[in-house]
Amino acid sequence: MPNEADGFDLKLMRKPVIAGNWKMYKTVGDSVATAVALKPLVANANHCEVVIAPVFTALKSVADRLEGSNVHVAGQDCATEVSEGAFTGEVAAFMLADAGCSHVIVGHSERRQYFLETDPIVSKKVQAGIAAGLMVIMCVGETLDQRDQGKAQSVVSEQLVGGLSGLTASDLDRIIVAYEPVWAIGTGRTATPEQAQEMHAFIRRVFAERHSPGAADALRILYGGSVKPDNIAGLMKQADIDGALVGGASLKAESFAEIVNYNK
Ligand code: PEP
Repeated sequence: MPNEADGFDLKLMRKPVIAGNWKMYKTVGDSVATAVALKPLVANANHCEVVIAPVFTALKSVADRLEGSNVHVAGQDCATEVSEGAFTGEVAAFMLADAGCSHVIVGHSERRQYFLETDPIVSKKVQAGIAAGLMVIMCVGETLDQRDQGKAQSVVSEQLVGGLSGLTASDLDRIIVAYEPVWAIGTGRTATPEQAQEMHAFIRRVFAERHSPGAADALRILYGGSVKPDNIAGLMKQADIDGALVGGASLKAESFAEIVNYNK
């Protein structure tokens, strides 16, 4: 019979991920300057994987400057198409890998909300990221209306199942899920550690039923939504919170480094 202590034992098997989503901020020069400032501040952070996601135009320059360091680079999105082709404005996942990325974020709520990305679109992007050999950070999360209507779990479950459909058992090693309640993104309103834990445990249960208990035990589930240096430690104490996807507080090297170094 699983108990709370088992939950914490399993957590020790999962390497936390702290990822910074820079959204549509910073020129190439500013991105490189922030990355270069971040590098020494997190150089001893062996307890977690550190990831930053600059804008597309800065990826290659940032990745070149971070080569050989422990800071990984992610794209903020990728095309649904796996191969190159006549898709104006799109960037294929393999092109992100070519630019030096090891990760890609897909299904961010801003993509779902402003660019009308549906679960089938997110699913294609997940598969494109995996085909390119990237680690895929797939975002899920409910709006405030959906939460108030008691639909938070059904919305998140639908996004999870829809976005991860058609994956093989070996693909699952490349998946990281980020739970980002839309009402907490950029609002300064964080889910409490208990609210986040409840949803993370639910996501792990859905993943176990859909895939396998072993894959669910290994799945890293990040929390995102107004994570700051002063609330990360409380979140990371929860059994099913394996890291964070950070927006605003990742834009400055010092505050992001404080979040990365939450264990100090
Ligand atoms: C995000 O962009 O994924 C995010 C969580 O933003 P913020 O930390 O600013 O709420």
